[in-house]
Amino acid sequence: MTPQKSRPGQGTAYDNARSNDNPIDLILHRLDRVKRTAPDKWIACCPAHDDKRPSLSIREAEDHKVLLICRSGCGVAEIVGALNLEMADLFPGDRRSLKDHGTGPMRRPFDYRDCLTGIAHEATVARLIIEAVNRGEAMDAESLDRLALAEERISDALRAAGGVQ
Ligand SMILES: [Zn+2]
Repeated sequence: MTPQKSRPGQGTAYDNARSNDNPIDLILHRLDRVKRTAPDKWIACCPAHDDKRPSLSIREAEDHKVLLICRSGCGVAEIVGALNLEMADLFPGDRRSLKDHGTGPMRRPFDYRDCLTGIAHEATVARLIIEAVNRGEAMDAESLDRLALAEERISDALRAAGGVQ
């Protein structure tokens, strides 16, 4: 599949879309200095920190989920927020939002869907790392760190949900 990158900067065309068949296009359109490094991988400047050299890696999973990994450690939610998107936009399918738009950036109460979406993202990160190892790629320090971060984020989600860890 070849994501078509047309007319950068025209992100608003998606804003009222009800479905998100191609999350990778939605994300790539909004990033700067996008460069494709493999059929399913790109790098770009991270929108969540002052990124001089592209340090955001973007991967498209086989099921079209999009994974965002910032080498400087920005969280996925921060990156998605900086793109004016929601976590659900990383996943193919219906983009129905639980919250009303138009109220501006307000602190919302704990949102189970966002929380579960974040956990699903971390699980996908773990799966992709395991798949890479399974293909014979060495488990490097960066991947190990990323797995530890996934565990940490899932534990954070549990705490945010009122559980103990
Ligand atoms: Zn970043």
